[in-house]
Amino acid sequence: ISKMRARLNRGDSWLSYDLGRMFTSDKLDADAIEEIETRLLTADAGVEATTWLCERLSADIGASRIRNEAQLRARLKSLIVEWLAPVSQPLEIPEFIKPYILFVAGVNGVGKTTTIGKLARHYKNQGQSVVLAAGDTFRAAATQQLKSWADRVEVPIVAQGEGADAASVIYDAVEAAKRRGSDLVIVDTAGRLHTQGHLMDELRKIKRVVQKHDPYAPHEVMLVVDATTGGNALVQAVQFHEAIGLTGLTLTKLDGTAKGGIVLAIAKRLSVPIRFIGIGEGVDDLVPFDAEAFAEALVG
Ligand code: GDP
Repeated sequence: ISKMRARLNRGDSWLSYDLGRMFTSDKLDADAIEEIETRLLTADAGVEATTWLCERLSADIGASRIRNEAQLRARLKSLIVEWLAPVSQPLEIPEFIKPYILFVAGVNGVGKTTTIGKLARHYKNQGQSVVLAAGDTFRAAATQQLKSWADRVEVPIVAQGEGADAASVIYDAVEAAKRRGSDLVIVDTAGRLHTQGHLMDELRKIKRVVQKHDPYAPHEVMLVVDATTGGNALVQAVQFHEAIGLTGLTLTKLDGTAKGGIVLAIAKRLSVPIRFIGIGEGVDDLVPFDAEAFAEALVG
């Protein structure tokens, strides 16, 4: 939590900075709720989450249940936990599904490749054997970039040359995983939103291919979005969810962004489990999402 707090609040926390200032002579300042409201909206928390939080804070202030900074922090924290609890579901790989097939999607630049590297490390550290599948065959450098992550975290990767058929790469990867008795296949998929029809066709095709191995695969379809893009991250998440049906989300670059409120907005709009958050460029800078820890890091 302390690392996450340092990263999330690099610079000033977008939410909890200087809450004490809102109290004059130990009474909550009249403008305080308005200020919290502004902070939430500026951080892209969205109208729904903001209204919900501020209504409850106002009621507590009216009933004199919040009389000092500590009580304000505690209440803010518990409200955030309550709001995020339904989506706070870490991704645990069940033993009885082998190999577990995890698709990772996301538009270029959001941190998809980095996240795959971090995921491989995370699950490897938990004792799982991991295989990567270089299924993003459209982007020229994608395979190369994924290979260097595979080297770095020392996991095998299945890849073919540039322009290869993604479905065939992924089929091979699952086959290799079965042969090796691997626990988890992390599949890099191409994400291009401007041609949503194409994206869906592509994903249907690779789904069909993995279903030849396991009719219930893919077991997880995770979208990676960049938290620093705020509202755009939400739009991407909605579009992908409508197009391919997501079962998990990872938000990257939450370190040092003032747009961290997007976590609250996405939680409500999608009701898709938030699996991880990225809090830096390093291989260990991926944290399983936990509402309690997140709220604690944010509000202090
Ligand atoms: P892709 O195009 O989606 O595969 O994106 P990359 O994985 O290549 O990442 C794009 C950039 O974002 C790289 O410079 C990464 O180091 C950086 N990045 C990825 N995740 C994070 C994160 O959680 N925090 C920060 N600060 N940078 C990140």
